[in-house]
Amino acid sequence: MSILEIRVLGDPILRAETAPVSTITDELRSLARSMFDTMYLAKGIGLAAPQIGRTERMTVVDVDDNPLVLINPEILDASGKPAKAEEGCLSIPDVYGDVERPSNVHVRALGLNGKPFEVEASDLFARCLQHEIDHLHGKLFIDYLSVLKRRSALAKWSKEKDKYPGFVRTLAEDPPRSHEHPDEEL
Ligand code: ZN
Repeated sequence: MSILEIRVLGDPILRAETAPVSTITDELRSLARSMFDTMYLAKGIGLAAPQIGRTERMTVVDVDDNPLVLINPEILDASGKPAKAEEGCLSIPDVYGDVERPSNVHVRALGLNGKPFEVEASDLFARCLQHEIDHLHGKLFIDYLSVLKRRSALAKWSKEKDKYPGFVRTLAEDPPRSHEHPDEEL
């Protein structure tokens, strides 16, 4: 089991565009395993490469016991009534906000075997995929908040961020966290 450090808000890699993966190497397969290990330890349901300091366009998710690696994922179609729900992010610990997103998405990606696949997702699974795919393009959930809500989220973060010197979150040394929110973090 290999646990990776998680980059937190303030690290410029979270704002960078990722590079499409052209070759799926053994190293990338091993990285995907470490990403799952890290995500499960952090009690998350999604983790994208920039969150662990990598630039590959790759993310792992697991909603309802359905672990999935998505390489070069693309949203082909988003539909359904926009739904609002509270989101958190493993890279912005203890900060939450309501985000409105389409409730259904149709996503195409490559699997670790290099074969393309498509997935139709709704509700939490759709939200998780959109949140992670945003990460691959330098976008974070706080970007969707209204000016006032974003200001209050950033004020909360300004108190939290000193717990993560160098914008690095080391899970074994995580400070105690509040549990007043759903533990589904992305
Ligand atoms: Zn996130």
